[in-house]
Amino acid sequence: MAYDSKLSLSWSGLRTFEECHNRSRLIRAGKRSKSENIRGYFHGTVVDRVAREWLDDPDLPAGAMAKMVPEILEREERAAKEKGDGVGRWKHADAEEEVTEFCVELVTRLEPLLHQYVTPYDFEPARRFKTPITIPGLYGSPVVIYLVGETDYLVKPDKFEVFDLKGTADESYWRKTMGQMVFYDLDVEAEFGEPCSRVGLIQPMCKEQVKLWTITDQQRREMVQRITAFAHGVWKQDATYAEDREACKFCPTKHACDRFKPNFINPERRLSIEAMRQVVQSSLPPET
Ligand code: SF4
Repeated sequence: MAYDSKLSLSWSGLRTFEECHNRSRLIRAGKRSKSENIRGYFHGTVVDRVAREWLDDPDLPAGAMAKMVPEILEREERAAKEKGDGVGRWKHADAEEEVTEFCVELVTRLEPLLHQYVTPYDFEPARRFKTPITIPGLYGSPVVIYLVGETDYLVKPDKFEVFDLKGTADESYWRKTMGQMVFYDLDVEAEFGEPCSRVGLIQPMCKEQVKLWTITDQQRREMVQRITAFAHGVWKQDATYAEDREACKFCPTKHACDRFKPNFINPERRLSIEAMRQVVQSSLPPET
């Protein structure tokens, strides 16, 4: 069998595949809706940009990050509108002000955390990666695919550490991101030959502002299994629909999904429509 030698996988790509194999297939075929609304994560994009630009010059005076917010927010909004990323009017008159306030508060809390966990050491912000890893192919022989993504902060005090910045105020959000950090750890191990000594979330709006873990070998093995299941699904052209129809509600590929095509092109439904027509016709009074 000929494998797609350029098969690559991001963390969000893996999550998409696990939620719905068909959506994963459609996104890879370029069928994602262009009208996705980015409001839900716009504030995260803004603070991310602020932090990156600040890290270019972390010797700026205390409070510098907060001052960068209004200009970067405006720039990001303009860029999103130009790209047609679903940013229209703000929901209500005060919404823009609320987002600005939230971002200012977040980066004000973030600044000392970066000074504690990142800037004293060798670090690389916004590190994009495309790292080859070898997994078993469909028939067991080794095949290379690529892990792709971007880590917010790769830090090296002694051994590697990866931190991800989260703009959430949800105290239990970290539970949903464990897998993401294992994915990043796997990338670091594949690229540098040694895994992270620890990984962490920097979540300034939560009570526990920095959440740290050490990834276990068992977690790494499970992640490789998930990655392998993704690759096999792609190679087998698996287009199974999401089991839970809730996933379809805000699906960005719903417009292209066969599950929602009009019934008349579904052969089974067409048969039942024909049967109904016969029943109706047989109950009509005979023509006179
Ligand atoms: S609409 Fe539902 S079944 Fe179709 S691709 Fe989206 S999530 Fe999957």
